[in-house]
Amino acid sequence: MSELKIAIQKNGRLSENSKKLLEECGIKFSNGISVLKTTARNFPVELLFLRDDDIPQYVEQQVADIGILGENVVFEKNKDVTVIEQLGFAQCRLSLAIPKEDKYEGLGYFMNKKIATSYPHILNSFLKKNKIIAEIEEISGSVEIAPGIGLANAVCDIVSSGSTLLTNGLHEVETILKSQAVIIGNKNLGPEKQEILNRLLFRIRAVKNAKENKYILLNTPESAITKICNILPGMKSPTIVPLVEKGWVSLHSVVKEDEFWERIDQLKAAGAEGILVIPIEKMIL
Ligand code: ATP
Ligand code: MG
Repeated sequence: MSELKIAIQKNGRLSENSKKLLEECGIKFSNGISVLKTTARNFPVELLFLRDDDIPQYVEQQVADIGILGENVVFEKNKDVTVIEQLGFAQCRLSLAIPKEDKYEGLGYFMNKKIATSYPHILNSFLKKNKIIAEIEEISGSVEIAPGIGLANAVCDIVSSGSTLLTNGLHEVETILKSQAVIIGNKNLGPEKQEILNRLLFRIRAVKNAKENKYILLNTPESAITKICNILPGMKSPTIVPLVEKGWVSLHSVVKEDEFWERIDQLKAAGAEGILVIPIEKMIL
């Protein structure tokens, strides 16, 4: 039986989370520093460790069947591949930044300026769409120092907190795109590989759902059950277990991670006590 070949970043910001995701899906593999290729022990996949820039091309050519990388690189490389799933990690944005002492009154600022970037394709499309004529200076790294050394007037670079820009005397003025890690795939996977991919996606979604939700347990007087159930819609309806103390129950449900604090306040106000919130390891809907 053939294996599904998965390309992940060898060394960089995506590496740890990509490996962790596969491990959380129960896939076991050896993970030496100098290893470029490894076969999983308990699932039909082979991992290829590559530079993220090369992943779209390799997936297009089916050297790898699928790959994990940032959407920013997927759009920049513009290869004939499918985006299969967003993974939620490595969130960042591609932005335009200018020297912090410069006043900014809109995209007209960039007219006839020189912009340094590692994303010439995305930047070029953005400038074209906005009818801005500017020169693109393509450099492969340390883009943020370009204005400081007189190489360009502005930069188009990846930002997460913006602190690197500030340290280099720049400020962010426009966001061109928002990015996160995704899975891309070759467009012509055969039925066998597609089947392995489906099994893998099933596991990945279970891991993602688990991360996005928390298990919640609380004690409440019976009289407050209806009110509390309205605050906690849960997966279906909450589970209720009687307590030894008469008139009281323990109520169990699932709450979305991002709604968590808001719900907790509502629950306390409704009369809930002894609230426990517990991480979920896998969640199959
Ligand atoms: P490679 O050597 O594999 O080419 P690289 O230097 O191009 O690596 P990294 O800096 O490791 O790339 O970043 C990989 C990806 O992580 C980026 O393409 C982007 O999607 C995401 N990323 C970059 N910077 C950040 C950040 N500050 N916060 C979150 N995600 C980021
Ligand atoms: Mg790279």
